[in-house]
Amino acid sequence: MARRKFIKAERSKKLEKEMLTCTFCGFCKSVCPYFEDNQWDPAVARGKVILAYGLAEREIPADESVLQRMYQCTTCKDCERRCPSNIRVVDIVEAARADLVEAGCVLPAHRKIIDNIKSTKNPYGETGTVDFGVPVHRAEIGYFVGCTGRYRLPEIPRHAMSILKKLNVDFTPVEEVCCGSTLQRIGAKEKDVQRLMKANVDNIRKLGVKKVLFTCAGCARMFKEEYPKHVKVDFEVEHLVQFLAKQDLKLKPFPKRIAYHDPCHLGRHLKIYEEPRKVLSMIPEVKLVEFAENRETARCCGGGGGVRAADPSAAQRIASRRVRAASEIADMIVTACPFCVTNLRYGKDLIKVDIEIKDIAEIVDDLLVT
Ligand code: SF4
Ligand code: SF4
Repeated sequence: MARRKFIKAERSKKLEKEMLTCTFCGFCKSVCPYFEDNQWDPAVARGKVILAYGLAEREIPADESVLQRMYQCTTCKDCERRCPSNIRVVDIVEAARADLVEAGCVLPAHRKIIDNIKSTKNPYGETGTVDFGVPVHRAEIGYFVGCTGRYRLPEIPRHAMSILKKLNVDFTPVEEVCCGSTLQRIGAKEKDVQRLMKANVDNIRKLGVKKVLFTCAGCARMFKEEYPKHVKVDFEVEHLVQFLAKQDLKLKPFPKRIAYHDPCHLGRHLKIYEEPRKVLSMIPEVKLVEFAENRETARCCGGGGGVRAADPSAAQRIASRRVRAASEIADMIVTACPFCVTNLRYGKDLIKVDIEIKDIAEIVDDLLVT
């Protein structure tokens, strides 16, 4: 019989006290998108807290099932909102993941991402360049495209750059490597994440940029919350929706019902809820409708935290629930993150409902009058 593998779990150990405050009340069950999908206790926050504690105390071995369960979390943070003990579930999950990776326990899909980033500096392993037609130059405003926009939905950064051009903003694309979000979410080595942070910050600084704009919620959250813990960030970080909300946008009428989907990393993580709604309400004749779960209660699209790579069918089912909910109230879902766009479209493929899914940069650019 194979020997059971117990791991050191140094990072999880630091959070043990917090784990012990879980009362097993189960409030987290009511909001967890993964629990809604598979109804298994290990998939919900309290289940992961127990697993993380067991790993830290060397009572639970790091076997295949524990590894899989620990990655059944999109890091959406919704459980933290419901938790009466204020447990930092995402920190606990990410600490346990880091301990597992440190011990050499890595899911094959995540191993591929780690290797891709090492060799190509993006999680998709893409080696080609994407030309957006704007030269890199010294400017006060920078634009960080992000890997999903660049390699999977380049129309989103193209629209974002087109908006900036129409608004006569002198901006420069940033010479970038992956922001490090994927690596950090899946628990890859911190020094590898920090190397990416340093490269990005050095590149930005060289251009004399004072403010960097983002269209990806995950990248924006990294720069806003995680970068300052490790590198000096001496420029402003703003998501495009924050920038646009301050402009006087002249937009063509669009008589459609739009439901805005709050990306978890923009909403619950960065608390940016009103700016995208302000931008959308500048569109004449648009009817802005709300999901029953919106703003801080918004349901996750299901793709984050390494789930889309490791468990694509769960990511698709979770997304399909959000898309179905929107199809009952709206003609279009608009969100502010290319990763949410890809996953929501993936969810739509499963249920084939009649609804469009767009990024806010696409719709604003299409309607912006010059
Ligand atoms: S809501 Fe918090 S305290 Fe209650 S079971 Fe979930 S993690 Fe534990
Ligand atoms: S962060 Fe989201 S996916 Fe993860 S356990 Fe909490 S509610 Fe579930």
